[in-house]
Amino acid sequence: MATMAYDQHLPNYRHNFETDTRFVSEYSEHYEFNFFPGSEAEKDIRHIVQTQENGYMKIIAFLGVTPPNKRIEYFFYPTEAIKTELMGDDWYAQSIYDEFRIHVLYTDKTKPIGPHEDTHLLSLPWGLAFGFLQEGLAEHMVGRAWDGTPHRIYVAEGYNKRLYPPLETFFRHEAWLETDDWYAIYFYSLAGAFSAYLIDVFGKEKYERFYKACRREYTKERHLNLFVQIFEKTIAAAETDFIAYNPPHGDA
Ligand SMILES: [Zn+2]
Repeated sequence: MATMAYDQHLPNYRHNFETDTRFVSEYSEHYEFNFFPGSEAEKDIRHIVQTQENGYMKIIAFLGVTPPNKRIEYFFYPTEAIKTELMGDDWYAQSIYDEFRIHVLYTDKTKPIGPHEDTHLLSLPWGLAFGFLQEGLAEHMVGRAWDGTPHRIYVAEGYNKRLYPPLETFFRHEAWLETDDWYAIYFYSLAGAFSAYLIDVFGKEKYERFYKACRREYTKERHLNLFVQIFEKTIAAAETDFIAYNPPHGDA
């Protein structure tokens, strides 16, 4: 699986964490967790193990993929400064496709664990779709926004605030990278809710077929053609439906 090199948008990535002797490790069936002694992550490690192992089974079952034969390695950093020093970036969480690793800022205030990043790694056998679809699948596996609010609440608010361009915009990979970080929770919620809509209304098989047919290097037009072929609906028509759609088994 890791024989292929993935292009990731992490220009400052570095590997100081590999030689930092402060890390201690804890192993579970599918994970290796690395954290600092006395840190918030160490305090929560039983909860973290349980949360990730539960999510893992859910993701594998949904994707219908064979569990990989190596563990996912987690690195937990107690401060933004230490995270930047050891891996080059202070953002909450990143998964590194080629290395099967996930880097997390874990403090008493921010605890970004759960199935999101693991979905990015475990869905690699499905290929790398454009960002909006990839983030949508990961958010769908979480089932709600990171503050616990149902995605569709943010989506309704996002449309009211006119934060969103037409959905077809996102069928070009780079459009996801260009979204405003200030409104991140609205864009992740839109991605998650749209994937949920496609899965609930058209079925997982069609969603899987579409996801596997998309490639982040394809043009928007090519993705839109695939969308019409597989869902037998234009994206404009799907968007109108989506806005009107109230998930029958939402998690409110
Ligand atoms: Zn993500």
